[in-house]
Amino acid sequence: MKESVFYNLVYYWIAFGLIVFPFVLRIIAPYGRHTNRSWGPLISNRLGWIIMESPALLVFSGFFLFGTAHHNVVTWIFFGLYAFHYVNRTFIFPLRLRTKGKQMPLSIVIMALGFNFVNGSINGYYLGWLADYPISWLSDPRFIGGIILFISGMTINWQADNTLIHLRNPGETGYVIPRGGLFNYISCPNHFGEIIEWSGFALMTWSSPALAFAVWTLVNLMPRALQHHKWYRDHFADYPAKRKAVFPFIL
Ligand code: NDP
Repeated sequence: MKESVFYNLVYYWIAFGLIVFPFVLRIIAPYGRHTNRSWGPLISNRLGWIIMESPALLVFSGFFLFGTAHHNVVTWIFFGLYAFHYVNRTFIFPLRLRTKGKQMPLSIVIMALGFNFVNGSINGYYLGWLADYPISWLSDPRFIGGIILFISGMTINWQADNTLIHLRNPGETGYVIPRGGLFNYISCPNHFGEIIEWSGFALMTWSSPALAFAVWTLVNLMPRALQHHKWYRDHFADYPAKRKAVFPFIL
C-alpha cells in the first residue's frame, strides 16, 4: 500500500473517532453491568472477551513479524509492550474474571472485533512495514516520557482490574463499592489507567496509528466510566460523594 494512502486512512479513522464521540457519550454499551437483551443474541461473557480481543494481538503480531521494515531494538520494544498488554487482555484477563453465567451481546463482540482488527492492523502495519527509528530514539524525551506513561498506565490498569476481580468470591456475580488506592478518587481507575497507557504508547512511538488507538481508547472508555459512575450513584445511597468518574479531581 502507498504510504500516503495508509496515513490518509489513519487520519480518517481518527476523525471518525472524534465524530462518533458525542454519540458514544449518549449510548450505553450493554456489556458488564449494563448488559441487556435489546442488542440481540447473547454469548458467554468470558468467550466474548477472548474472541473480541484476539485480533488486536494476532493481526498486530502478523503485520509486525512478517513486515519488511528493518526491526531494531526500538521497534521490538514497541512490539513487546503492545503484545504484553494484549496477551493479558485476550487470554489471562478473561480467564480470571468472576463472571459465572454472565453474557454479553454478540453485536458488541462483533463491533469490538472490528475495532480491535483496525487498531491492530494499523499499528502492526506501521511498526512492521513503515517504521524507521534510529537507536538514538531510546534517549529521545518522547520515548522516555511515553514509556513512563505507558508503564504507569498499565500498572494502574492491572491493579484496578485485579481489585475489581477480587471484589467477588468465586461464583458470586453481584456488585459492591470498590475502595482503596485510586478508587478513593475515581470510580474507574481501570479505564483511567488504560487511557494513560495508550496515550503513553502514542507519545513514545510518535506515530499517527498509535495516536488513533489512544483517541479511540478515550472514545470508548471515557463514556463507559461516566456511565459506571452514574450507575454506582444510582445503586448505592452511600456512594462516596467526592469521588469523580475517570480523571481524579476533574471529571
Ligand atoms: P468493568 O470495570 O466494567 O469490569 C471489570 C470486571 O470487574 C468485570 O468482571 C466486572 O463484572 C467486575 N466488576 C466491576 N465493578 C465491580 C464491582 N463494583 N463489584 C464487583 N465486580 C465488579 O471493566 P470493563 O468491562 O469496562 O473493561 C475491562 C478491561 O478492559 C478494563 O481494563 C478496560 O480498561 C479494558 N477495556 C479497554 C478498551 C479499549 O478501548 N482499549 C475498551 C473496553 C475495555 P461484570 O462484568 O459482571 O460487570
